[in-house]
This record gives sequence, structure tokens and C-alpha cells, in this order.
Amino acid sequence: MNQYFWIRNIFLGLAILLMSVSLSAQKYIVIIDAGHGGRDPGNLASFKTMSDEKHINLDIALKVGELITENIENVKVVYTRDSDKSVSLDDRAYIANKNEADFFISIHSDSHSDSDINGCRVHIHDGNLGESKKLANSICLKMNEIAGRKNLGVQDSWQRGGHYFVLKNTAMPAVLVECGFMTNELEEIFLNSEKGKNLVAKAIYKGFEEFLSNLKGKTEKVVSNSNQFSTIKAKFKVQISASTEAIPFSKFKNLDMKVEEVFFEEGVFKYKYYVAAGSTFTEAKKVRNKVISKGFGDAFIVEN
Ligand SMILES: [Zn+2]
Repeated sequence: MNQYFWIRNIFLGLAILLMSVSLSAQKYIVIIDAGHGGRDPGNLASFKTMSDEKHINLDIALKVGELITENIENVKVVYTRDSDKSVSLDDRAYIANKNEADFFISIHSDSHSDSDINGCRVHIHDGNLGESKKLANSICLKMNEIAGRKNLGVQDSWQRGGHYFVLKNTAMPAVLVECGFMTNELEEIFLNSEKGKNLVAKAIYKGFEEFLSNLKGKTEKVVSNSNQFSTIKAKFKVQISASTEAIPFSKFKNLDMKVEEVFFEEGVFKYKYYVAAGSTFTEAKKVRNKVISKGFGDAFIVEN
């Protein structure tokens, strides 16, 4: 033990302190998107005493935003609309991307030709990031637990025969929550009631909160061999970036690919980012070239 030892340890201590300060100050931006609005009513009310979809969505969206703002530190809420006005789908995606948002939650109320159908379903877009599914699952569970909705599960938007514009064109983990069916009499009454809207809002907020706390825990967790958690099953993957600090997923928005973050305990660059690159080297080279053309010039191929 010598002088140098102590100086080194003091510096190390300072570095760790600074790191934890920057981690706790990390600010997330979440977009709360009330579906439809203004000239676009969405699904129409069944009775005169009930509201059209756009009003239900807006009421729930504002309540979700309020709950997040009041209860979760370090999260800034941005609404695509906070009144009954028309906002194009382009503009909704633009608002999200311009704000470099970290998460996007779109709120809708569903309809079906079969009036027996009821429950909550959350849509994601498969070209989007893996975190979307975790957020969607978390909201689905809370919609069941807290709001008592039947859990119809997470659905990839392609399965429904089309894609949802806002999900496809937003660069961050994005979910579209169909809170319930306005074509089911009981559910329509529920969605119109103050109590129902409060419960649904609470469920979405809780789902988001839980997802976020898991996300934070994971980012800070020390894992000895992170590769074992790789979600990419392809033979090859392309490393697109490596960094000493976590990179916001919005930085990968040009890629339109699922990006995996892997945390490494060893080495300077603790956060590495990958995309799946197929089962042959030829395929992998194509993926690498695509990634390079999108601005990630240091990308290289690794065997998984
Ligand atoms: Zn809708």
C-alpha cells in the first residue's frame, strides 16, 4: 500500500460518484398520444349519452400524463394533443421524433362487429425495438389487475392485416393501447364513467412505471456475462455502436431495426448495441452495409 494506491482509490471513488449522479439525473421523455381528435371522432358512441372515442381517449390520456408527472421522477410528459383538435398521424410521429422521446404510448378505444368481444389489447410494431413488447406486456397485466379488463394480450400490428402508422414511424419503444371495446355495452359504459377512466389511466401509468423501474434496474445492474442474455438468435449480428454510457434508443431511429443493448462489466465500453444479421456471412455483410449507410460507420460483424 502506498500513496499512489490512495490517490487512485480517491479518483475511482469520485468517478463512481459522478457516474451515479448522472444516472439518477437521467431524464426520460414519454409521448402520450390521445388517438383521433377534432374532425376525426374515431369510433362513434352507441348512445347519445355516451362519448365518441376521441373524447374517451383524451380524458384517459390526460389522466395518464398527470399520474406520470406527479408520481415518477425524471420523466417528462409530452402530449400529441391536450384538447379536442385534429392532429395528423404524420404530426404525431413527428412530435415524438422531434422531441427525441424515449417512449410512445398511444391511447385508443376499440370496436368490433361482435358485441360480446371485450377487453384490452396492446399493439406493437415488430420493426420497432424489443422494449416495446415489455412495455406492452406490463400494461396488459395492469389493465387486467387494476382496471379489471380481460387481457387480450399483446399483438403485433402486422397480425391485424395492416400497420399502425404511429407505431411504424416512431423511433422509440412504442405501444398502442386499445383500452376496451365501445361496441360492448358494459365496456362502453365503463369507459365513459369517471371511475372507469380513472382505473384505466392508473393501469397504464402503473404498467409504464413498472416497466421503467425494471429498465433502470437492468441498466445499472452488473452482469458478469451479459452475452448469455442476448435476445438475438441469428448466427451473425452486427455491432452498431459501443459506449461508456447507455445510448438513448432514439439515437437509432434511422435504422428501423430491432436494436439490442448489452451491458458488459469488463472493459471501457460497457454498453454495446447490436442488430441481428442473419445466418450467412453474405447476409451479414448486407446488414452491415445498410447500417453503415444509415450513419453507423464503425459497424462490424460478429459471430453470435
Ligand atoms: Zn382509435
